[in-house]
Amino acid sequence: MSHSTFAAGQVAVITGAARGIGLGIARRLAAHNVFVYLLDRDEQALNASVDALRSEELPVAGIALDLTEGAAVNAAFEQIREEQGRLDFLVNNAGVVRDKRFLNMSEADWDLVVDTNLRAQFLCCKGAIPLMLEQGFGRIVNMSSRAWLGGFGQANYSAAKGGVVSLTRSLAIEFAAKGITVNAIAPGIVDTPLFQSFASDVQDKLKNTVPVKRIGTPDDIANAVEFFLAPASSYVTGQTLYVCGGRSLSSASV
Ligand code: NAD
Repeated sequence: MSHSTFAAGQVAVITGAARGIGLGIARRLAAHNVFVYLLDRDEQALNASVDALRSEELPVAGIALDLTEGAAVNAAFEQIREEQGRLDFLVNNAGVVRDKRFLNMSEADWDLVVDTNLRAQFLCCKGAIPLMLEQGFGRIVNMSSRAWLGGFGQANYSAAKGGVVSLTRSLAIEFAAKGITVNAIAPGIVDTPLFQSFASDVQDKLKNTVPVKRIGTPDDIANAVEFFLAPASSYVTGQTLYVCGGRSLSSASV
């Protein structure tokens, strides 16, 4: 690599990084020589991904945990403090969907989706920000979704992802003077196991709703993460960037 936007010794945490978008972001940052902690609850997939990245000689480590459990999240950030003594970047990426028509949506469907997509971000920010304050520098990127605009059968997911936008704006205000920026990304349709879990006719229908006529890749999202983490973005905070092939421009979701 001829030029890197990252300094030697910088450390990142990426949540939900065992696969999909999170894994793509982890690979991208590690390729810039950032030391990356991949956090995920799927221990088997996490170990396989960490092994794969290490075999590419990338500097990574995995921590298996459920991000909705405060004690486990605190322990993870304590481990990082002990091992690295610093944290520069946090990418709150883990997420889950339980799409259902509203009257079929159970309390468990609501709690799982809100806890995973929103509460986990609150917990990880609580773990990361003290470390960032110590060095007067930090970059946080929270994964929202284009679906925060509203989606059929997505009351739980849309509400959680809207909460992410508001959490991002509030933290941006609170920590702007401390060298910490907080931004969000609202992906459209990205080709990951989450997307592949939809029935193939639904996948086709969704693809046709994208103005640029292709679905996104984890690399498309990693590009946006890299932008927010770069020194050149120090004047950008509290923003939500759509990376959705223009799909946010149409009013209704399917
Ligand atoms: P994915 O399902 O492929 O991967 C998500 C990862 O998060 C998995 O490895 C899973 O084990 C992990 N995870 C889930 N709950 C967890 C928990 N409680 N504790 C620890 N790990 C947990 O998903 P993806 O498609 O890569 O999505 C990543 C993010 O992007 C999510 O926040 C998602 O909502 C968002 N997003 C995705 C799309 C898309 O089309 N794929 C679109 C918009 C937004």
